[in-house]
Amino acid sequence: MKKFKVPLSDEQYLKKAATCPFCGSDNISGEEISIEGNEAWQEVSCNDCESSWQDIYELVGYSGADGKEPKGKPATDKGKGLLTNNLHKSALC
Ligand SMILES: [Zn+2]
Repeated sequence: MKKFKVPLSDEQYLKKAATCPFCGSDNISGEEISIEGNEAWQEVSCNDCESSWQDIYELVGYSGADGKEPKGKPATDKGKGLLTNNLHKSALC
């Protein structure tokens, strides 16, 4: 597949999610996703033009595991948060 003269800008790329920013192919494959703080990124490569790049994701919110909690409101289940913190601490020790 023929590459674009200029790769897509971020804005153009966001409108064409899951396509190669270099040639426009949707024959792409993603590697493992890495998460740090509020950001996540994923190595992606194109099977047509053999370019590789990173998709960058930003945390935009959360929803309850059962999908019942209203969006945008703070979690009311404090016990859950404590449990998660404790687990995190013990994992670090
Ligand atoms: Zn490509």
